[in-house]
Amino acid sequence: MYIRIETEKDGWATRWETRVRDDEGLMKALLRTVKRYRAEAETQDQAVPADKPETPDKPETPDKPETPDKPETAAQQREPAAPVPTEKEERKPGYRGFLLVQCSQCGKLRGFSAREPITERTCRECGYVTVLKDMVQADLYCPTCKKTWRYQTNTTDAEVFCTCIACGTMMRAKWDKQLRRYQPVKEEI
Ligand SMILES: [Zn+2]
Ligand SMILES: [Zn+2]
Repeated sequence: MYIRIETEKDGWATRWETRVRDDEGLMKALLRTVKRYRAEAETQDQAVPADKPETPDKPETPDKPETPDKPETAAQQREPAAPVPTEKEERKPGYRGFLLVQCSQCGKLRGFSAREPITERTCRECGYVTVLKDMVQADLYCPTCKKTWRYQTNTTDAEVFCTCIACGTMMRAKWDKQLRRYQPVKEEI
């Protein structure tokens, strides 16, 4: 089964996803927790905050998911920051949020934030248009801010570098073969 959690706070999108073996018990436990959490939130706060889920009725029958896709839908709090390429129910094609895009022609890597989903990126150095696909997660840790920034990247290099958008410190992440994503390197460069 596939678990994905997405949040958006103060304009920053965070995404966490993982694949674990199919486990009905875990799925039910998650759904029950979400259901209880929602019930508590509703009692505490009758007014639904503006940035709360757009579809509050979704996990109606969390104990009886009809399809394996259900937990994903239930755990989803908002419109995804970017669709996962392997996922069936894609909403908008393309990638959104923090992106670290490497130009297919000149190899220049550039980090930026895409407000709307994009499917390609024009290189500022050489003008080549790189089509974005098979993007993977890259977490970069800023030792100055003590904060981890979550990017999606198309690079296949062993390491990626990017400056912290808050303070400009150079951050570094290494490819993790097992996890199939870039993991932050926490030491200062
Ligand atoms: Zn280029
Ligand atoms: Zn920083």
